[in-house]
Amino acid sequence: MQLFINLVYILSSVMFVFGLKMLSSPATARRGNMLSAGGMGLAVIVTLFDYQVISWQYILIGVVIGGLIGFASARLVGMTSMPEMVALLNGSGGFASLLLGWAEFQRGWTVVQGGGEQLSVFTASVIALAILIGGVTTSGSVIAWAKLSEKIGGKPVLFPGQQVFNVILLIVIVACGIMFSINPGASYAYTLIIALIVLALVLGVMSVIPIGGADMPVVISLLNSYSGLAACAAGFVIINNVLIVAGALVGASGIILTNIMCKAMNRSLANVLFSGFGATTSGAGKQAEGEVKSVSAEDAYFILEAATSVAFVPGYGLAVAQAQHVVRELGELLEDNGAEVRYAVHPVAGRMPGHMNVLLAEANVPYDQLAEMEEVNPNIEMVDVCVVVGANDVVNPAAREDNTSPLFGMPIIDVDKSRTVIVLKRSMNPGFAGVQNPLFFKENTRMLFGDAKDSIQGLVREFKDA
Ligand code: NDP
Repeated sequence: MQLFINLVYILSSVMFVFGLKMLSSPATARRGNMLSAGGMGLAVIVTLFDYQVISWQYILIGVVIGGLIGFASARLVGMTSMPEMVALLNGSGGFASLLLGWAEFQRGWTVVQGGGEQLSVFTASVIALAILIGGVTTSGSVIAWAKLSEKIGGKPVLFPGQQVFNVILLIVIVACGIMFSINPGASYAYTLIIALIVLALVLGVMSVIPIGGADMPVVISLLNSYSGLAACAAGFVIINNVLIVAGALVGASGIILTNIMCKAMNRSLANVLFSGFGATTSGAGKQAEGEVKSVSAEDAYFILEAATSVAFVPGYGLAVAQAQHVVRELGELLEDNGAEVRYAVHPVAGRMPGHMNVLLAEANVPYDQLAEMEEVNPNIEMVDVCVVVGANDVVNPAAREDNTSPLFGMPIIDVDKSRTVIVLKRSMNPGFAGVQNPLFFKENTRMLFGDAKDSIQGLVREFKDA
């Protein structure tokens, strides 16, 4: 039986790895998700044979309630609320690891009270880790969820001595963890475990409140990584191989995603976690020079009608305006008109990883028309028109040209190097970074002011009436 169970665990782990690999392309992502879910289903079923099942009824009730909540929330949640949902799922993962650690401690404690042997140092230390990382993930994810869903303010909460307080908190937690691990059967061990749970929850809150709402996606992928590490520690607590493997995969992929996002914003993880970005950012950088040239939908139509290659550059404003469907419609009209159409997607355009890809996929934009920044930039001089749909920071040439700009060094899509740029936005307001964009003042830029969806609908009408 044990051999069979371990073989199924290996099969599940292989399914997780291939599932993850398939998630890296929009064309295979859905199947990848199903494959990983299948692997998890197998692992759960076979685990029920592995351990002494205490109560089938409780397990069944848990599966039904959990399954219903998961199913209903996945169906009901809007595409724009995905980050909030992911935050809560991470928090649930962390909480499950915390509970598992606590339950295993309770089991060991009961044995000691009955005169039996205390837990080994190894088991006690992984219990402490599962509780610590699980606790931080739980409360951190709840704060991230509350900030994203605007239940609490999105501004960074900073107070004097905050970092010193956090360091002291961490030292106390580590001390509690070590004292507990060395002697988990001691009379004070119960108090230490409760202290560890409470302090881990406090640390989770303290780690996330100084981070601005717009940086939450980075924090969520980091918390996702933590939830994996907590699961990995929980796997060591109960010596369950598949939990260790799955936890390690989630931990590693979360940290890789966090790293990709930080690189794409040209910010270090420390800067995201500790700088309180967004609390004080003001219009830094040089003043832009030049004249803003605004155009009507009709003028923009004439420019597009004559174009043989067009690149759409979507940004956060596309999500706000929900303009993805009309953009696809305009793309099709341009193709009918003989133009080559592409969608140039910056890795951090929008407010969550893959935000633009998800929206464009929802609107059935063909995958082969999506192009990454690195593919588009080398030949951008050959593009007749770049249509910037609600993007700002990710096309700000100050990132290349102005070393006093907070964006300096951030890789951008070089739309200003194309022949003509049409920018769709409502006003001259800055984007997420709060800095002015010299693109709007360039010779080859035309501003089409208004809600992106309305503006594109206007262009679609022009094409249809022509
Ligand atoms: P920005 O936030 O820089 O700009 C969005 C622009 O959209 C604004 O200038 C706004 O201008 C415009 N806009 C808003 N609503 C509408 C509307 N209804 N119609 C038309 N335009 C609209 O977005 P980008 O996508 O260019 O950049 C993303 C930023 O977010 C980057 O700075 C990135 O670092 C940051 N970020 C991204 C994360 C991710 O995971 N993707 C994570 C954390 C941060 P106006 O108000 O004038 O209309």
